[in-house]
Amino acid sequence: MATKLFLALLAICRLIIAVGLTLDPSELLRLGVDESLRLSFEPEDIKEASIDFGGLKRAEPLAIFRPNSAHDVARLVRVVYESSHGFTVSARGHGHSINGQAMTKDGVVIEMSNGEGGNFETIVSEKLMYVDVWGGELWIDVLRSTLEYGLAPKSWTDYLYLSVGGTLSNAGISGQAFNHGPQINNVFQLDVVTGKGELLTCSEDEHSELYHAVLGGLGQFGIITRARIALEPAPQRVRWIRVLYSNFSAFTKDQEYLISLQTNKKFDYVEGFVIVDEGLINNWRSSFFSPSNPVKISSIIKDNGGRGALYCLEITKNYDHTNAHSIDEVMIYNSK
Ligand SMILES: Cc1cc2nc3c(=O)[nH]c(=O)nc-3n(C[C@H](O)[C@H](O)[C@H](O)COP(=O)(O)OP(=O)(O)OC[C@H]3O[C@@H](n4cnc5c(N)ncnc54)[C@H](O)[C@@H]3O)c2cc1C
Repeated sequence: MATKLFLALLAICRLIIAVGLTLDPSELLRLGVDESLRLSFEPEDIKEASIDFGGLKRAEPLAIFRPNSAHDVARLVRVVYESSHGFTVSARGHGHSINGQAMTKDGVVIEMSNGEGGNFETIVSEKLMYVDVWGGELWIDVLRSTLEYGLAPKSWTDYLYLSVGGTLSNAGISGQAFNHGPQINNVFQLDVVTGKGELLTCSEDEHSELYHAVLGGLGQFGIITRARIALEPAPQRVRWIRVLYSNFSAFTKDQEYLISLQTNKKFDYVEGFVIVDEGLINNWRSSFFSPSNPVKISSIIKDNGGRGALYCLEITKNYDHTNAHSIDEVMIYNSK
């Protein structure tokens, strides 16, 4: 079974590598003339796709492609695959990688999250508790759509301005992972454009090698154009607490205890992180602190034996109006 899986992965890998031969720019230009492929050679677009959130790497593509549908993506990849002068293709979600993962030098960047007027329908099934979304959709928009039905995905990243395809290519981890697994464990089905330009639907039962290769596949095994994501009822209210530690061992011991709790004592979210003085202000997490907190925390960090760091546990418990009166007692009882 393991050998079969390895051979299948190797075959898919080969397909993608085969795409990266030498480039004939005139062929690319001819593709750009084809209106349905909508390639952009604009310097502004090229510049944007040459960098990412990390700002550490730079790689200039020759063109940008903004698909309006999965068939657009398949068509571009197919043309590239069948072309005698191939070039590299890379999917880019929201460009929040830190080491150039979504870039491609002298190739085409497929901007999955920047399509305008595309056919990117989001479909929620209340009965089967899933949502079907475009691979370039941002998680914040997935949440907005599912909340209209009182539902929400089970597993998250902390920051929601990331694309579905971008986080599913990694893992997608946050404070729910101890309970539901990372985001890649909460996907029922995918539509994927393979290195040959085929558009395939895959799941545990259908093209399962492709499904397992693409989830956490770092964008190397195909391009996710649709994901079917598991939902649960969205919490009505959340009690949220943060606990600061100066001692690392005490912090990890408590975190391990909290994630080991079973059923009725279980929290809904447990996450730990390190707070360093310089990172506290003007950080995307700063908005979670009240304005006086960073100043206070900075002074505690300085007093903490010059270590320059504190550790923070973040814990939540969902509740609703029926048990609102007892939520504080539940928080104290559960964490004992
Ligand atoms: C401020 C910030 C907070 C973050 N918080 C978390 C967090 O809490 N938890 C967590 O797990 N991660 C977190 N990350 C990391 C983040 O999940 C990854 O960097 C993720 O890849 C970014 O998604 P993106 O849409 O920007 O992807 P991009 O950077 O655009 O792409 C990332 C990779 O995915 C590939 N890819 C993109 N779209 C597709 C697609 N449709 N099909 C196939 N491959 C594709 C690209 O080719 C590339 O290899 C955070 C990053 C930042 C910058």
